[in-house]
This record gives sequence, C-alpha cells and structure tokens, in this order.
Amino acid sequence: MKTVIHWFRRDLRVRDNVALSEAARRAEQVIPVFIFEAASRTGTDVGAARLAFLLQSVESLRQELAELGHALVIRCGPAEEILPKLAKEAGAQAVFANKRHEPCAQHRDERITSALLNAGVGFELFKDAVVWEETEILTQAGNPYTVFTPYSKAWKSKPIPSPRPKLTIRHPASRIPHLRSDTLPATPDEVGHPLLQKIPPGGELVALELLRRFMAGPVYGYGMSRNFPALDGGSNLSPHLRAGTIGIRTILAGLNKAKGKAANAEAAKSCETFLNELIWREFYTQVLHNFPRVAQGAFRPEYDRLQWSENHDHFAAWCAGRTGYPIVDGAMRCLNATGTMHNRLRMIVAMFLTKDLLLSWQWGERYFMQQLVDGDLAANNGGWQWSAGTGTDAAPYFRIFNPVSQAEKFDPGGDFARRWVPELAGFPGDLIHQPWKNLPLLEKSKYPPRIVLHEEQRLKCLALFKAVKKI
Ligand SMILES: Cc1cc2nc3c(=O)[nH]c(=O)nc-3n(C[C@H](O)[C@H](O)[C@H](O)COP(=O)(O)OP(=O)(O)OC[C@H]3O[C@@H](n4cnc5c(N)ncnc54)[C@H](O)[C@@H]3O)c2cc1C
Repeated sequence: MKTVIHWFRRDLRVRDNVALSEAARRAEQVIPVFIFEAASRTGTDVGAARLAFLLQSVESLRQELAELGHALVIRCGPAEEILPKLAKEAGAQAVFANKRHEPCAQHRDERITSALLNAGVGFELFKDAVVWEETEILTQAGNPYTVFTPYSKAWKSKPIPSPRPKLTIRHPASRIPHLRSDTLPATPDEVGHPLLQKIPPGGELVALELLRRFMAGPVYGYGMSRNFPALDGGSNLSPHLRAGTIGIRTILAGLNKAKGKAANAEAAKSCETFLNELIWREFYTQVLHNFPRVAQGAFRPEYDRLQWSENHDHFAAWCAGRTGYPIVDGAMRCLNATGTMHNRLRMIVAMFLTKDLLLSWQWGERYFMQQLVDGDLAANNGGWQWSAGTGTDAAPYFRIFNPVSQAEKFDPGGDFARRWVPELAGFPGDLIHQPWKNLPLLEKSKYPPRIVLHEEQRLKCLALFKAVKKI
C-alpha cells in the first residue's frame, strides 16, 4: 500500500505498537492521526484527571513523532465523519488501528468500518492492548473462563510474544501531503483545575522510566510491599496501560529479564505475583468480551435484584471522604486529589460502599470511572463486582471487610491515614483508625463521627444478600 493512516487511540506510543508497526511495514508512508472525540461517544466517563493525563500523553507522542520526522495530525469531532474525509485528503488506502475492547467502542468501530468502506477505504484492527484476547483462551469444554486461577494457568502455558519494533525515522524523500491539525482542548491545569499538580505525568518516556526503575529493584519486594498503601509498592503503570503509553509486551520482556536476575526464591516469587496482576487485567478484559452484560449489571443476574439503599447523603459522604472511617476517607480524598488509589484501598472503599453503606456497586463504579486516571471499564467493573460479591471470581457475599481491621493490618502506623486526613494529627497511633474511641478528642478535631456502625451494617448486608438467595 502506498499510504496508510495510523489512528492512535489507546496506544499513544511509537514503540511496541502492533498496528503502527504493521502500517510501517506494509505502507510506503504512514500518516499518524489522533482524533479527539467527546467521551460519551466511546462510552466512558472521562474526568479531569484522565483527560489531563491523556492530553499530556498526546503532546508527548507528538514530540516523539516529530523527532522521527512524522507530523501528528490532530482532529476534533466524530471519528466516523473525520476518517473518510481525512483518508481522501491524504490519499490513503486504509486506516490501521489497535482494537479497543469496550462494547461501546466496538460498536463505534463497526460504524467506522461501514463509513470507510463506503469511501473505498479499508479499516484494519489489530490485537495490541493484551497478549491474549476474546476467545483465545478457553476451557477444555470451549467456554470462557470465569475463575482466575485456571485462566492464569492456561495463560502461562502459552508463549509470550516479543515487543514490536519502534517506528523508524521517516525517509526524507517520502512526500507527505500537508494536512491541517486542530488544536486540542485546554488541559485542566490551563483552566486552573486544582488536580493537575498531583496527577501522575503522562507520556511514553515517563512510562518506560517507571518500568525501568520498577524492574531494577521494587519488583523483587512487590509480593509484600504491594499491600501497604503507605509504601507505594506497585509499578504505577496502570494509567500508562490504560492510555497505551506502554506496550504489554514491553512490560513482560522487562519482567522476564528481571526474573532471570532474581537473587532468591522470594524475589522470583514476587516477579510471579506481578505477572499474576497483569494476567488479572487480561482476565477481566476477556470477561467483558465474553459477558458484555457485566457493563450493565451483575455477572450473576440474581444479584440485580438486590435492594440497595438509595441514601444520597451516605453516597456524598463516601465520595467526599467524610464517612468517619479514616482509612476509607483517606483513600477517597487521595482519589479526589490525585486521580489514583492504591489497590488495597480500592477493595476497602468498594466493600465499604456496598457492604457497609449498602449502596449499589454501580454508583461506585461510575464515580471511580470519572475520577481515576487509570479508569478502565473491564478492570474497574471486575474490581467492583469482585468487591460487591456479584461478579465472576468474586469474594463471596459473606466475606465482608472490616474497615478497622483492614486499616490496622495494612496501614499499621496510620501513616497513610494521617497523610490524607489531617484532622487526625492529634490522635495517638493506637486510635488512629478508631478515633471515635476518644470522643472529646474527636469533637475537638472536627473530623466527622461514623455515619454507620460496621457491625450493624454487616448484619443488614447479610440479610440483603440472603433475601435474594431465597427468591
Ligand atoms: C474496585 C476496584 C476498581 C479498580 N479499577 C481499576 C481501573 O479502573 N483500572 C485499572 O487499571 N485497575 C483497576 N483496579 C485494579 C488495581 O487496583 C489497579 O490496577 C492498581 O491499583 C494499579 O496500580 P499499579 O499500576 O501500581 O498496579 P501493579 O500492582 O503494579 O500491577 C501491575 C498492573 O497490573 C494490572 N492490575 C493489577 N491489579 C489488577 C486487578 N485487580 N485487576 C485488573 N488489572 C490489574 C494493572 O494494569 C496494573 O498496572 C481496580 C481494583 C478494584 C478493587
């Protein structure tokens, strides 16, 4: 082919990018394009934090491409209208892109296929975001897996592909038509949004540096440190996997190398634990593909009949971090301020919303999607349904986290709680997670009293689930 448009979507990088490397291999010239669309069109809520991260990553991509002699074409508007016109302007025979896995984005791709076909332009989609997708890993009976452990075993039995080569420098002699570029919307920091100072920086080079640093040491202690919010023991790669500023094959190659250098069995086991987390991501992606109904309701349909509370005051208190439970409040305030939340805390606040406040997991799922920099439909939905006990490989409904014992176990010195709940500064270490045990100090601190009592709510929650089981 003479000219191919590479349409960047959740793959904002020039290295290890399947569709981009295919375009470079099969076409004489590649036109890199980014289309900024209203979020509602792809079915995901985009809050200020994710938008800022995305725009920063696009800018970094533009610079990387410019260094390689390629000019990123930016257009704003509906992709199915823009792409056929742009293909005509550029004289392109095809548009290449990497697959997206959200049902709503896939329906849009069907519309784009017809729009391009009508214009005589091909549209090719490539598997890129995950190693194994859709129905590539099935049980012996030919069904999708709904339990993680056997899925991960099957996943590990397959070969892991190597990273794709980086886009090369454009041949100076290749003539590229001049194509207009639109200006991207203002980033939230440009309009004075308070978040941006605190959200993680975007871009491919940032992601590669995070990976390098993680694999140089922290990965060997990951098995232990990943559970403690105050330690920051994770890779922090999730926003990059979400925006595609790093390729999964690159991460796996880095992990494989690190595993080869592990000094002892414990360090090698930590590498394996990290691999399992990456497989969880693929597990939930295939769940979403094979059971798209999870985007609308419980994986176990009987749980759509749960009579959740509709207490909007409780929901507002949870969102704002004013429930009176320091670990929950610290986690929510951290989310609101940075667009990120530690995995252990996500489980604690999700359990608290569903099992203590008895509010629908879907309220929490939506709020997370709006706030998180790494908000991803498959992983978020999987995490919420796991916590609520309504999902595939879920915690059983009677396993209810106690927010105090979780806090005492995973934030033993209260370092995390103190960082995000400054009202608790005057509380001694043994009361940091139960400030209500010293009422005069609590009143002085201006920190709110508990909005519910865990032991009472736990019983109500069990009754709620049992009522559904009886029907
Ligand atoms: C209620 C709830 C909601 C969640 N929502 C999201 C979300 O919207 N987007 C998201 O990427 N993750 C989500 N997770 C999973 C997990 O919390 C984050 O992936 C993790 O905290 C990201 O930090 P990290 O990059 O340091 O992860 P690491 O611990 O370094 O793990 C490496 C990578 O593995 C993947 N991963 C790790 N744990 C999980 C998991 N349980 N499920 C799926 N993938 C995982 C992520 O891509 C992550 O970057 C959610 C979990 C829960 C309980």
